[in-house]
Amino acid sequence: LLVLRGVDKHFGELHVLQDVDLTVGKGEVVVVLGPSGSGKSTLCRVINRLETIGSGSITIDGQELPEEGKGLAQLRADVGMVFQSFNLFAHKTVLENVTLGPMKVRKVPASQARERARELLRRVGVESQADKYPAQLSGGQQQRVAIARALAMEPKIILFDEPTSALDPEMVTEVLDVMVSLARAGMTMVVVTHEMGFARRAANRVVFMADGKVVEEGDPESFFTAPRTARAQDFLSKIL
Ligand code: ATP
Ligand code: MG
Repeated sequence: LLVLRGVDKHFGELHVLQDVDLTVGKGEVVVVLGPSGSGKSTLCRVINRLETIGSGSITIDGQELPEEGKGLAQLRADVGMVFQSFNLFAHKTVLENVTLGPMKVRKVPASQARERARELLRRVGVESQADKYPAQLSGGQQQRVAIARALAMEPKIILFDEPTSALDPEMVTEVLDVMVSLARAGMTMVVVTHEMGFARRAANRVVFMADGKVVEEGDPESFFTAPRTARAQDFLSKIL
């Protein structure tokens, strides 16, 4: 579904992505982890073209990422993104947050969009909050709305960039549970997180990045119990 080949990116002097290869199959859940500054967020951002790349190629369903215009809007619809900071529209209700994208980009009629939004809000357990504004919700509820909003676009893949790291500990589980159920339902996901519990429950593969490179890749159990590289061993000794 998603293929990155030899992806390079610089920020001025900084070589933030170095010859990154990554393949994510349909229905696969890939957890990306690595130290701060290793390029994890940049990796997510190049996949939906919030950032351009220097060289290499990124394809989704065999198609190169579009440069601009209609194709780019389509790409953003196909590649959902859930951020650490929720990024909900503050002046829109929860329901509006979820219906806006499908109505504008997918041209779904309002009544149908609302019906689908309620269904998704139910799925993530915040249906009763539909008419509130984001600020009236807990962090965990807001993040679940952000997930419902991403799902509403019927994306081919959803990228999660540290979706639980801004949450109070007691809210982490409710968000991770939603993500685990998505994973089990067959959603294709790339998840930047240090939540090992999630990786063990839901990931097909773990990708460890350091200094802009993919240093190690493997199944979660072997990665966490027996990392092969010194970089990964060192990293795990700090987060475990
Ligand atoms: P963290 O775990 O802290 O979120 P990360 O692995 O997500 O880190 P990135 O945010 O991808 O790391 O950043 C990788 C490097 O690129 C960092 O050194 C960062 O300072 C730099 N960087 C990120 N965005 C920009 C930008 N827009 N302009 C210049 N440098 C940037
Ligand atoms: Mg980051």
